[in-house]
Formats: sequence, C-alpha cells, structure tokens
Amino acid sequence: MRIAILKERHAGETRVAATPETVKKFVGAGHEVAIEKGAGVAAAIPDDAFAEAGAKIGTAAATLKGAEALFGVRTPDEATLAKLKGVLLVCHLEPHGNTAKAEALAKAGIDALAMEFVPRITRAQAMDALSSQANLAGYRSVIEAAQLYGRAFPMMMTAAGTVAPAKAFVMGVGVAGLQAIATARRLGAIVTATDVRPAVKEQVASLGAKFIAVEDEEFKQAETAGGYAKEMSKEYQAKQAELIASHIAKQDVVVTTALIPGRPAPKLVSKAMVESMKPGSVIIDLAAPTGGNCELTRADEVVEHKGVKIAGFANLPARLAADSSALYAKNLANLLPLLVDDDGKKAPHWDDEVIQGMALTKDGAVVHPSLVKEGA
Ligand code: NAD
Repeated sequence: MRIAILKERHAGETRVAATPETVKKFVGAGHEVAIEKGAGVAAAIPDDAFAEAGAKIGTAAATLKGAEALFGVRTPDEATLAKLKGVLLVCHLEPHGNTAKAEALAKAGIDALAMEFVPRITRAQAMDALSSQANLAGYRSVIEAAQLYGRAFPMMMTAAGTVAPAKAFVMGVGVAGLQAIATARRLGAIVTATDVRPAVKEQVASLGAKFIAVEDEEFKQAETAGGYAKEMSKEYQAKQAELIASHIAKQDVVVTTALIPGRPAPKLVSKAMVESMKPGSVIIDLAAPTGGNCELTRADEVVEHKGVKIAGFANLPARLAADSSALYAKNLANLLPLLVDDDGKKAPHWDDEVIQGMALTKDGAVVHPSLVKEGA
C-alpha cells in the first residue's frame, strides 16, 4: 500500500503521524511511504531521518500523488480533503455527533477511519490513540501546573525553614487523570482525586492518593458497559458540588480531566470555587476543548482570576511532540495489518470489530451507527 503522511495543518499542531521507526517497519513490509517535506520538524524528526528510513520526501502534492492511504494526526484542511477521493483516511476526526462532517467525507469519496473510535477492547489497546495521547497529556498537565505554580511541589526541610508540600486535586481519573496523579506524586505533592466511576477508587489508592467522592447509589451505577462515565443527575451533581466546594478551597493545584464522550464537559469547578482558592493556586483544565470543567476556562488561554491561574491548554500532547508522535505513530503501525491483505495490498478488514468501530464512511456513504441519519 502507498501511504502518505502530510505536515499537520492545524494551528499549534506539532505532532506527526509517522516516525523513522514506523516508516522502516512499513517499508520493510513492502509498503511505500511518502512524507511531506518538514512534516516531522516540530516533533524533532528531520526529513533526513525519514528519508534514511526509506520514505520519499516531497511536496504535499507529490506526497499525495498515487496515495492509497493518508495517515494523519488531525483532520486535513479542506483543500487536502478535496484531493482524497478514493483514499483511505486514518486520523483523529472529532467524530462524536458530527454527522455533517461524516457526510462531507462520504460525499468527497473518502473512506475515513476515526482514531477516536478505536474500541476500548483488549485486542485494540496497542492501537488506542486516545489512551496513548491522554497518558502524555496527564503527565504534561502536572508539569504545566508546576511551571505556573509559584511554589515547590515537594516538602523541603531546609536550614532556612520548611517548604510545605503542594496539595494537588485530580478531577476525573481516566487515563489522563491516573498519569496526573502519578506525576504529581512523583513530584512530592499530597494528592487527592475524584471520579464518578467506582472502579477508580482502588486505582487512586494504589497510586498513593486519597479518593474523594459522593458514594451513593447513583455512583455505584455510574459506569457504562464500555467503561465510560454516564452523565450524572442534577441531584448527584449538586451533592458532588457541595463536597468539591469544601475540598477545593484547600487545594494549591487542581487538574481537571472529566469527560463524557460526545457530550459537553461537565462543569465541576464554579467561579465561586475558584474564588475560594488561595491566590497563587493553579487549575489545569484538560477538558478545555469540549467547554472546560471549570466555568472560567478559556481554550488555549491562561486566565488569571483573583490570583488563581486557570490554564485551558487545548492540545497538551502537542507540547511533547516527540513522545506523542512516537506513540501515535506506533498506534497507526499496529493498526496497519487490519488495513491490508496478506500481500500488503490495500484491503481494510471492514468486518473486523476494530475497523467496524472506527469506520465513519465507506464507498461514499456514512456507515458509523452513531452518525447514520434515521431513515437514510
Ligand atoms: P475520559 O477521557 O472519557 O474521561 C475522563 C474521566 O472523567 C473518566 O474517568 C470519567 O469517569 C470521569 N468523569 C466523567 N464525568 C465526571 C464527573 N462529573 N465528575 C468526575 N469525573 C467524571 O476517560 P478515559 O481516560 O478515556 O477512560 C475511560 C475508561 O476507559 C476508563 O475506565 C479506562 O480505564 C478505560 N479504558 C479501557 C481501555 C481498554 O480496555 N482498552 C483503554 C483505555 C481506557
């Protein structure tokens, strides 16, 4: 199969969908790889390294010429999409509820697989880009917090006096939250965490942090069969807000990661809660792209409110582009066997559970059950 990799067009996107390691693997398996000049530069991968691994480096037009598949990080721009008729597109497509986008892809004759829809099953773990990227985002969130926080994280007993340890609170303990807890602990903070899924309680304890939650009957049922959180009732949210309000006032660092797939992020930190925090405290809101968990979050901005900094970094994986690209490229490399036949020819395994889960469009039609319009 001839695989194309373009330089990402989204503002602030530093990642790239291949590394010399994955290119070498593809070429070794008999595939052709074409990469746009400069595609890896922001992720510290020079063109020469791709060329040495066996990729053809060229302009965007040359890269797309004859391409059978385009591997990307984010959705290509309109001009590129217009050139992808018959090409298999594999990238993040922000697909949740986005029927219009899926229809546009189908109309353009693009078979599109969304990396966000890799099923959360054991067999697909090595292809799970949401997890590989969320893990790094969780790590980076704490590094950003440490940088914005004008004090130290660990307790330090010095001849000149004692520095108190930072108190860090992680809200939402999925993949990103778990890594945020582990990172804050490594830096020496006293860490507490909350989530609406009961399964999380033990994981929090195993990382040496304390779990805080309203543990009522609704909480006991709050996990879907797919392992995701349900949207909680108004009553639960009110009880949760009361508990959080008293806890958050004592925190120095808050990292919020609470998401419900396909829904706006739950608002967990109100303006009043922010105002209860000490000046100098920091909130890092990983839910910024879907509206934020904090009422005052603005995507891609650091807002300061009464001495509290609220950072809405919308793309934390892009702040560690070398690692996030390496893991993402591996996710794609692990997916490749499901896109070709035994001879290496393009032949997506449309009947495979993983491909079925990811497929938005096929042969000019929208095929994902969540996006097919009723009656269509
Ligand atoms: P996510 O990014 O969808 O959400 C982050 C966290 O926010 C979740 O833990 C969720 O429960 C929590 N949350 C939602 N609403 C909340 C609220 N109102 N208050 C507090 N917390 C709230 O989650 P994720 O990181 O994608 O992980 C989701 C699940 O999938 C987890 O159980 C994870 O372990 C599981 N998972 C399984 C696999 C696999 O088996 N292959 C791979 C990755 C993740």
